[in-house]
Amino acid sequence: MSSHKVAGGGRAGFSPWAWLAFLAACGFVAAALTVSPPTGGTSAPAAVVVDQQASTDEVAAQSSGGAARPLANDCSGGTVHFTFDDGPNVHTPLLLDRLAALHLKATFFVMGERVAGREQIIRREVAEGHSVQNHSYRHFNLVTGTDLAGVGRTPWGASQIEFELIMDNRVITAAGAPTPTQYRPPYGSVNLEVDKIATKLGLRLIMPWSDHDDMLFDDSHDTEAGVTADVVARNVLEGLHPNSIITMHDGEQAATLHSTAALQPIVDAMNERHMCASTELPADSTGGVFSAPGRGGSSGHPE
Ligand SMILES: [Zn+2]
Repeated sequence: MSSHKVAGGGRAGFSPWAWLAFLAACGFVAAALTVSPPTGGTSAPAAVVVDQQASTDEVAAQSSGGAARPLANDCSGGTVHFTFDDGPNVHTPLLLDRLAALHLKATFFVMGERVAGREQIIRREVAEGHSVQNHSYRHFNLVTGTDLAGVGRTPWGASQIEFELIMDNRVITAAGAPTPTQYRPPYGSVNLEVDKIATKLGLRLIMPWSDHDDMLFDDSHDTEAGVTADVVARNVLEGLHPNSIITMHDGEQAATLHSTAALQPIVDAMNERHMCASTELPADSTGGVFSAPGRGGSSGHPE
């Protein structure tokens, strides 16, 4: 244990009191290691924790500024679509509280591996009128087979792609949600082979972004370094049009808090523009991704 030096000073000949202090310190460290989050392996580095705290304060400050100003207008300005990728995670309940207070319904593209121990969050999403859909089981790039760390899986082919999508459906339905009918490929990385497999499983493509149809996709950029809730709100409002598919995240912890805090100013603007929100995503949400030959490798997009 690396704490020996800290606890005992690294010298022989301790007094009984020093030994007691040493054992107590070991016990404390052991307890700290034992009481890890139920998901395991997802604890954030210290810098991110600081960021989270600032953002939690941001959300709290906003909430304490009075009752939420929910969505309430005649919808004459059109309908937009909120989507959240990569959850569920620790702040998803806070996000759900905010969505409920603002009378917003959203689509959650769920990462199956994160559902274990959070099945009740999936059930809550369904119970509160949100849509729960497929974002693959482990968030591998479905085209290249690379994982979150950029390490390639081999072999990688049809059966592996199928596994990621089927496992995600299985975890989602086991938690109590209806069988997904839509999928969003991690990083927006997709090709015809991936889409053919997904289509066979009854999943239609919902892209997070598009280089071909900027009017449809409205990327909040909430996972980018240095963003604040104000920046997220500004990003969304700049690209907000009738039918917009707004891309946000409830997987990465700071991003979730920034996006949660950004919802009120977005809703304020939607009320001014008479816009409503719906989980009925546009019939064609592919963003013309297959119209560019050879498209579908990894990209710089974090989704
Ligand atoms: Zn993702």
